[in-house]
Formats: sequence, C-alpha cells, structure tokens
Amino acid sequence: MVPNVETGCKALIKLTENTDSRHRSTTELMRRLWREHIRHFTGWLMLAILLMAVMASATAFSAWLMKPVVNDVFIDRNQDLLWPIGLAVLATFLIKGFANYGQAMLMNFVGLQIIADTQNRLYAHLAHMDLAFFHARSSGTLISRFTNDINQMRNAVSNAITSIGKDFLSLIGLVVVMFIQDWHLALIAFFIFPVAIFPIVRIGRRIRKVTTNTQEEMGLFTTLLGQTFQGIRIVKSYGMETYESGRIAEIVERIRRLNMKAARTQMLTSPIMETLGGLAVFAVIIYGGSRVIEGETDSGAFFSFITALLMAYEPMKRLANLNAGLQQGLASAERLYALLGVKPRITDRANARALTNVVGAIRLDDVRFFYEPNKPALDGVTIDVPAGKTVALVGPSGAGKSTILNLIPRFYDIDSGIITIDGIDIRDVKMESVQANIALVSQEITLFDDTVAANIAYGRGGASQDEVIKAARHAAADEFIEQLSSGYDTIVGEQGIKLSGGQRQRLAIARAMLKNAPMLLLDEATSALDTESERKVQTALSELMRGRTTLVIAHRLSTVVDADLIYVIVQGRVVEKGTHAELLARRGAYKRLYVMQFEEETSGQPLVAAVEA
Ligand code: ATP
Repeated sequence: MVPNVETGCKALIKLTENTDSRHRSTTELMRRLWREHIRHFTGWLMLAILLMAVMASATAFSAWLMKPVVNDVFIDRNQDLLWPIGLAVLATFLIKGFANYGQAMLMNFVGLQIIADTQNRLYAHLAHMDLAFFHARSSGTLISRFTNDINQMRNAVSNAITSIGKDFLSLIGLVVVMFIQDWHLALIAFFIFPVAIFPIVRIGRRIRKVTTNTQEEMGLFTTLLGQTFQGIRIVKSYGMETYESGRIAEIVERIRRLNMKAARTQMLTSPIMETLGGLAVFAVIIYGGSRVIEGETDSGAFFSFITALLMAYEPMKRLANLNAGLQQGLASAERLYALLGVKPRITDRANARALTNVVGAIRLDDVRFFYEPNKPALDGVTIDVPAGKTVALVGPSGAGKSTILNLIPRFYDIDSGIITIDGIDIRDVKMESVQANIALVSQEITLFDDTVAANIAYGRGGASQDEVIKAARHAAADEFIEQLSSGYDTIVGEQGIKLSGGQRQRLAIARAMLKNAPMLLLDEATSALDTESERKVQTALSELMRGRTTLVIAHRLSTVVDADLIYVIVQGRVVEKGTHAELLARRGAYKRLYVMQFEEETSGQPLVAAVEA
C-alpha cells in the first residue's frame, strides 16, 4: 500500500502545531514583540510616524482645499487666487508624495531588518537543538516558520504601525475637515460609515480563512514535490509517474479552487462598495444639495466634505481590518516564540571544561537509554574501546548498534550509567570539544550541493587545498576527483547525485581524514558496491582507521576478522564479546549471526576454513 503522504503531513503539522503553541495573551505577545523586535528601531519608527503625520495633514489639507477651489476659483472666478490655489494643491500633493515615499522606505527598512534578525536568531537557536527535536518535527513545518510566519509577523507589525500612524491620523484629519465644512453632514456620515464598512470587514475575514487553507495546501504541495523529486529514482523504478502526477494534480486542483474562491470573494467587494458608495453619495447629494440650495452651506464646503468623505474610505477600511491582520500576525509570532522557547535538552553543564589531549579510550558503563518510556533501546550496555584499538559491533537489525554510536557524541543523553572518554564523563566536558575529537562516517552520506573540495573541507573551514588533496589521496579519492570535469571544483549536486555510491563514500572518508580526530565512529555501508569500488573503499577505511580508536558497526567479514574485539548486541544488551575466533568457537549468538551475515562472503568455503584462512 502506498503511504498517504497528505494525511501523514497533516497529522504531523497538527502535532507540531499543538506541541509548539502555548496560549499567550494578546498584550503579552505585543509586549514581547515590542521588546524583542520593535524597540531597537524606535528612532527610525518615530521618523516614519512623523512623515506619516505630515502625509495625514497633507491629505486632510488637500480635502479642505476643495472649498477655495470651488468657491473662489469656479464660483467667484477670482483671478488673483487662481495661481496661489493651484500651486497650493500642487505643493500639497508633492509633500504628500514625498512623505509617503519616506515613510514607506523607513517601514520597509525596519520590516526587512526584523525579518533578517528573526531568521538569524531562529536558525542559530535551532542549530543547537538536539536530534530528538528534529525527529519530532517535519522539516517542512520548520521551514514554513522561517518563511510564512516571519513574514506574517513582519506584516502585522508594519501594518499596525502604518495604520496607527498613517490611517488613524489621516482619518482624524479628514473627520476634522468634514466637521469644519458641514457638521450636520458629518454627524450623519458618522452613523452611515460603519454600516458601509461592515460587509467589507466580513469579506476580509472570509478571504483570510480561504488564504489559511490555501497556505496549508501549499505546504502539502511543497512537501509532496520535494519528496517525489528526491525519490525520483524510486518513483520511476516502481512506475509511479502517473500515480504521482495524479496526486499532484489533486492538490493543484484544490489550490486552484481555493484561489478561485478567494478571487470570487474578493471581487464581491467591488459591487458592494459601488452600491454602498453610490447610496452614500446619493444621500449626501440629496441632503447636502438641499442645504446648498437653501443657502445653509456653500458649494465649496459641500465638495470639500465629499472629498474628505471619499478619502476617508481607504484608511477606515484598513483600520477596520487592522485587528484581524494583527491577530494573524500575533498567531505567527506565538508559533515563533514557542519554537524559540524550546530549550535544547542536551546542554553543557555550568562548570564544563574542554576535553583536551585526547587519547581516545571510550567506555560505556551499564548504559541504559530510552527513546520511548518503558521500552529501553539499550539496557545495561558495557563496552570498552581501548585507545587506538578497533572494536566492532554486530547484531541483528534494530538491536541498538546505531544508538550506541549516537550516544558517544551526545546526539542523545543516556538515562543511566556513564560514558567516558579517557576516563572523563562526557557530560562533564563541553559537548563541542567531544564532537571535535570524533569523526563520524555513517551509512547515509551527507554531501552538500557544493564543490568536491568544500565537501571534503566541511567542518575545517581553514583547510588549505594541499590538505584537502592529501586527505583525498589517503581516502583513495584523488584519482576519480581528478577525472571529474572541474576536478576539486566540481559541484557534486544535491546529496552528491553526480557521484557513484563508492565515490560518495570515499569523499565522506576523506572528510573524516581531514578532520583527523583521534576517535572514529563508523557505520559501514550495507549497500553492495562492485568488487573494485569495495576494494577502494576498504583501502580508504583501513587508512582512516590507522592509529585511531575505532568503534565500527560491522557489515563486512574483513572488519570483524581484523577487529581487536567484537561485541554482539541483541535487543539492547551485550550478549557476547571476544575476538572473531573466540566467538566462533563459542558457537553462540555470534556464530548464528556470522552464518547469516557473512557466509556468502566466504564464497561457499566451509566456515572453519574461511576463518583459518
Ligand atoms: P540496524 O542494524 O538496522 O541499523 P541498529 O542495531 O542500529 O539497527 P538502532 O537504530 O540503534 O538499531 O535502533 C534500536 C531500536 O531503537 C530500534 O528498535 C529502533 O526502532 C529504535 N529507534 C531508533 N531510533 C529511534 C528514534 N529516533 N525514535 C524512537 N525509536 C528509535
């Protein structure tokens, strides 16, 4: 059965949302937003608000100017005032334009700075989280915090400040103009206006709901695209192209429908506004017009009033929508703060010192470890890896071998027992110094979409070209690298897609070689390589292991035969230990495993003969 990615993703998104979000009050969130993001920009924001005030005044003044325009220029035909009034209108618009430009630039500057600061802060925080944290969350969800949530938070901050600075002040200015020109009409408008705004606010809410659904679908779409492109080989080899196209088409259709719904709703605003606007202007003309005819007010005041009324529409609409937008931004901020608030479970102790002059003797003493409560993955494991020796771990799948390897660099912390390096508890020293002394070569090789040289030098930023080449030579990788189109400068593609399996392994070995750490944790690759590649990888590994303390999850016969000591792990426990010959002679768990795992490598020779050979 093909797993249902969508349901899986939805469940995952739900799960992570739930675990990440804690209810915080609006004021608490606003205070935090102010403290952590806005406060540093007070100076710039004050300047922006000042420019907004200038803009608001210019807006109100341009509405007020309609009165002299109508009365003095059009009705009284006053030649002397023609130019001054014309120039005043021009100047008002120029001031308004420049003030708007200035405030928009400042708000963008502050907004973009907030995005950049938050993205950097969030990444720096997440980079220090332990593996369990990442295992509990999908990468898609984390990525969407960096893009959608940070953007929404920024928009909420910008919109709130702009609304308060520009829209609110403009509205006040325009209302003042309306009252100055005709307070009777102004009072009427005050009652009519909220009625006109009401449907617009409702439509806004509906659009937001549709947009939220669209975002969720977009998240699924991205996840599915990523999965199918990454797994394109499997998609092809199982002939699933049509199936995947069908699944993509389903999501695409859902997104299209949602967007169409949003567009339909959005378009509704137009006829509603036209009708309401028409009614409002109709009412004002009938009532205001009759007041002009009866001489209770003049035409200039009337036109100035209508201008102010129409100009007030936009800021009023934005202010009416402010709260909903703010809530959306605060919800994003809440998700971000929840993520920032998650503390790494594995941290250095207060008095931790650096691990120095490492010889590399590793010891696990009566170690117990749980991924899940009541189900120990390791149950009283004791393993000794003397400095400079090679110790192999063997055991059936799921026995706990990789777990043992993961505990030494403190990817996870143990639940009881002790792990020491050169006799020092690894929890008493700085984690960074432990990891600096360990080279890890795992089955899943991680290569970045960068040059061969950069991939080898990963973690050793200052490494010279000579050091990189030397490491590649020792890893038997130099030869194939030289044959690549741009040698060490060849871009390897995502996950090293442009290289063969054996080549990728040798690059990983070269990387560990360059790190030159005294301890090596090695998970031998299980995937079969052809004999030639296998031989090269084997040579590279032997070179890497020389002189280092090595703990290796063994999948090859030669590794167990050459190991100084072998531990057999079954269901989280050490069931046997000894050299290859000792363990074979014991005819216990190791021998059964040996028969299953390595027999074919002996090319059909009788077991004992193979061992003796
Ligand atoms: P293999 O040879 O197949 O790689 P292994 O001996 O290395 O197996 P581990 O990967 O150490 O086995 O797994 C030991 C047990 O812990 C398994 O039962 C596995 O299901 C469980 N386990 C491993 N990783 C996790 C995890 N991140 N969360 C929960 N359980 C896990």
